Amino acid sequence: MEEKNTKGHFIQSIIEDDIKKNKNNGNVTTRFPPEPNGYLHIGHAKSMCLNFNMAEKYNGKCNLRFDDSNPAKEEQKYIDSIVSNVNWLGFDYKEKPLFASDYFDKLYEYAVQLIKIEKAYVCSLSADQTREYRGTLKEPGKNSPYRERSIEENLDLFKKMKQGDFNEGEHVLRAKIDMSSPNINLRDPVIYRILKMAHPRTGNKWNIYPMYDFTHCLSDSIETITHSLCTLEFEDHRPLYDWILNELGTESHPQQIEFARMNINFTVLSKRKLKQLVDKEYVNGWDDPRMPTLEGLRRRGFTPESIKNFCNTIGISKKQSRIDYGLLENSLRNDLNEKAPRRMGVLNPLLIEIENYPEGKTEELDAQNHPQNPEMGTRKVIFSKTIYIEKEDFMEEPPKKFFRLTPDQEVRLRFAYFISLKEIIKDESTGEIIKLICTYDPATRGGNAPDNRKVKGTLHWVSAEENIEADVNLYDRLFIDEDPEYGVEDFTENVNPDSLKILTGCKLEKSLCNAEPGKAYQFERLGYFCLDPKLIPNTSNNKKPVFNRAVTLRDTWAKVVEQKQQEKRKKEKALIKQKAKENQKKAP
Ligand code: ATP
Ligand code: MG
Repeated sequence: MEEKNTKGHFIQSIIEDDIKKNKNNGNVTTRFPPEPNGYLHIGHAKSMCLNFNMAEKYNGKCNLRFDDSNPAKEEQKYIDSIVSNVNWLGFDYKEKPLFASDYFDKLYEYAVQLIKIEKAYVCSLSADQTREYRGTLKEPGKNSPYRERSIEENLDLFKKMKQGDFNEGEHVLRAKIDMSSPNINLRDPVIYRILKMAHPRTGNKWNIYPMYDFTHCLSDSIETITHSLCTLEFEDHRPLYDWILNELGTESHPQQIEFARMNINFTVLSKRKLKQLVDKEYVNGWDDPRMPTLEGLRRRGFTPESIKNFCNTIGISKKQSRIDYGLLENSLRNDLNEKAPRRMGVLNPLLIEIENYPEGKTEELDAQNHPQNPEMGTRKVIFSKTIYIEKEDFMEEPPKKFFRLTPDQEVRLRFAYFISLKEIIKDESTGEIIKLICTYDPATRGGNAPDNRKVKGTLHWVSAEENIEADVNLYDRLFIDEDPEYGVEDFTENVNPDSLKILTGCKLEKSLCNAEPGKAYQFERLGYFCLDPKLIPNTSNNKKPVFNRAVTLRDTWAKVVEQKQQEKRKKEKALIKQKAKENQKKAP
């Protein structure tokens, strides 16, 4: 079930206040504005949840609008993936996806209007000169020598820029604001540049493209967005957002409100950094199940609900923070615990022969699909004379409290029979256990003894005669440090070399040959797994199915994280002590 945070946050308060004052006639319109220059990640999901939830809560609408004003970096494949992600998460953008590029004509007109009111000019400084004239955080900038060009000259040059009469970099169109402003964004920012490049949607129509800051506020205004919600790095751009709309006197003037981006420990959330992981082959592509991209999480087995619940419970604020990856996993556990049908699979098989079970016989036993939800029904599992259990579930010389199979401890096979050990068959040269000979008690069929005899352990198992063989991928954190940037020059130095473990020769119960790709099943005692949607076996590839473990049954990471944090604190303390000592030595 999807939970929505009803506690409210500061953006909600602002919106409710606006509705009370009948601002925008009480309407609420938001937008989610991805730039199609990469794949979406879980941070984008947070932004989507915020924008779509606010619209839904106040009976408004939320547009999906591509901020596609930079053809140098944008591609159709990203557009397709983003649309598919938004649909998968179940967000309703009412009409069609919108595109800033659909407004290029209008944006051009707005730029012409700015020239006409002497608020924009064509500047012909080189890129280096422009940088020099811009000044620094401490020093004001200098006016460009082209700042006082006449309206006519500007109009003419801008038109020629559009027609393609000039080369890239020869001229730009700049807003005429204030070169001495303490806010560098206001020092005559570039609003149009020449780019002789085809655009995925407008083709070769344009030789000039509007810059992000110019495009964004005007696209918001054209769509009569009421609340333009964005992340904190745009706070310093807000004066420019407002300046453009004020100078042009647009009818609609959306309010920009900033909130803190989502950060998660043990991973990175930036398209640029994620791209490095892909390019340097630390992962197998953008949809690698270890990636925090929506494509990756989906392939790993995350459900839309688990992602939305996670985003809705972590809250919205102005303060930067780092969320524990474990919370994301927990959200998935909670969702799958309710939803995922139970199955049996053995990852590290150990062969068992049941000596007193008739040769050649197999039987079908009833197995519940969900222990708490009888409505999910039952399935048949095949029992036979030879079966597999997990290697870890047998010990010849067990420690105390090992409640599994041992030479003198009877166990229950889930949904089947009690078995006890009779003999261990080992490889004579290596001493490795090849197989166990066991006996079963026919009176315990279904898993209960008529004499009410109890066993301490229940093991999962799979028939050795009828099963499907699969590869299983187990995933771990992508980075070894909770802050991948910590203590290294390049964050990729902190990539966890053991983040993927591939198990081959795993044995799964036969009903899993109908497993739906991408749908999670609980393999009893092992976690939640799903058939990799990209690696489906078929007659032509002749491959075994691959299952991904989406998440373990319990959070084994909380402990690791705690331990790591302690180590880090220790290191930091040691460093401080060492520095203090050194300073003492230096002191006269
Ligand atoms: P990145 O920094 O990862 O490359 P971006 O901000 O450049 O992301 P956009 O496509 O411009 O990516 O983002 C679309 C929307 O998603 C923007 O409104 C942006 O503020 C928001 N967004 C991006 N990353 C996060 C995040 N980590 N947490 C919350 N919102 C985010
Ligand atoms: Mg961006």
